Amino acid sequence: QYPFDVEAIRDDFPILQRSVGGDPETPGEGDGDDTPLVYLDNAATTHTPEPVVEAMSDYYRGYNSNVHRGIHQLSQEASVAYEEAHDTVAEFIGASGREEIVFTKNTTEAMNLVAYAWGLEELGPGDNVVLTEMEHHASLVTWQQIGKRTGADVRFIEVTEEGTLDMADAAAKIDDDTEMVSVVHVSNTLGTVNPIRELADLAHDHDSLIFADAAQSVPNRPVDVDDLDVDFLAFSGHKTAGPTGIGVLYGREAILDSMQPYLYGGDMIRKVTFEDSTWEDLPWKFEAGTPSIAEGIGLAAAIDYVEEIGVDRIEAHERLLAEYAYDELEALGGVEIYGPAGDERGGLVAFNVDGVHAHDLSSILNDFGVAIRAGDHCTQPLHDKMGVAASVRASFYIYNTVEEVDALVDAVEQARDLFA
Ligand code: PMP
Repeated sequence: QYPFDVEAIRDDFPILQRSVGGDPETPGEGDGDDTPLVYLDNAATTHTPEPVVEAMSDYYRGYNSNVHRGIHQLSQEASVAYEEAHDTVAEFIGASGREEIVFTKNTTEAMNLVAYAWGLEELGPGDNVVLTEMEHHASLVTWQQIGKRTGADVRFIEVTEEGTLDMADAAAKIDDDTEMVSVVHVSNTLGTVNPIRELADLAHDHDSLIFADAAQSVPNRPVDVDDLDVDFLAFSGHKTAGPTGIGVLYGREAILDSMQPYLYGGDMIRKVTFEDSTWEDLPWKFEAGTPSIAEGIGLAAAIDYVEEIGVDRIEAHERLLAEYAYDELEALGGVEIYGPAGDERGGLVAFNVDGVHAHDLSSILNDFGVAIRAGDHCTQPLHDKMGVAASVRASFYIYNTVEEVDALVDAVEQARDLFA
């Protein structure tokens, strides 16, 4: 049984009541009758519950105003809510306070912030940055390009046949010239849960920093920056029941303090003359210009919402669905699933069906109302290594049910038979 009342949760997400225009009677032909939506594309974006939409609309209806600047009441109310949203995030991931929490647009911008503000200053020829072969393009492309600009070598820890990290290779690649280890916590393609703490120990033994890409872990498992012992960590609001346009960079205070700003302008300065400028305290030093105020407030409401359910229970729910989907898809035959076994993964399953292109499969699934992702999931080099151009990915969240996994598996079976 579910670790919490999934039907009650579903009531908070009106979007789950809508239908889509596919027609299971004539799969592959598109436009048919309304078909109930089975939303299994949560690794791309999760839906937003009513309390989050309400928190954002309360802001727009009641106290919409710019932050940090005004002394009028609306601005003060907006500033308090926006600043306190940083405290909510800090507490959620075990950071020491708001000074360690920078709001960005998304995970990608958080990576770029560190790559530009820290990487361009600190890296040079002879240094290396260690990634993994399963990195999302958000970190892979970013560090690859910073490597080209600074002359630093960019290395990749190998992924084994089972879809886990080769830790012997990690120990060989992380050396005394390593300055940064950037690792995805839960792979958005393989579902692998990487041993961040072990990698952090390796990195720190060599005086390197470590950055955890937590875009797929913060949404559905407990994440604590102290337990993981990471120097940086990033995630996105829109994958955690929150709005788009808001992401989080956690950084250790001493490191953020020593870094130059990433963007310059208003709100991030303390004193400006024609000759020079000084910077605001953390985290505002890294939040130039008018920030995403409603979205920051919405993110805090999303965190309150998931904390109310309980991250431990969310993890158990994701495991239940991922394991069930893995077993049922495997039992179909003719399905190749990527990554570790069902009980050792995050809440997603990427796969291919023999003889059916991933895009054709997802288009047929759409006729069954089943929304999944097809493509390389921003892990092109990993797909190259797996020997396929694309895969489909079903990913789960708090509102998904076993019946929805059944709908997925039924649709996959029919699609397979259609192409046989
Ligand atoms: N890293 C991982 C592991 C992801 O799954 C994603 C989103 N697919 C990102 C980074 C990038 O997130 P965003 O698009 O919100 O910047």
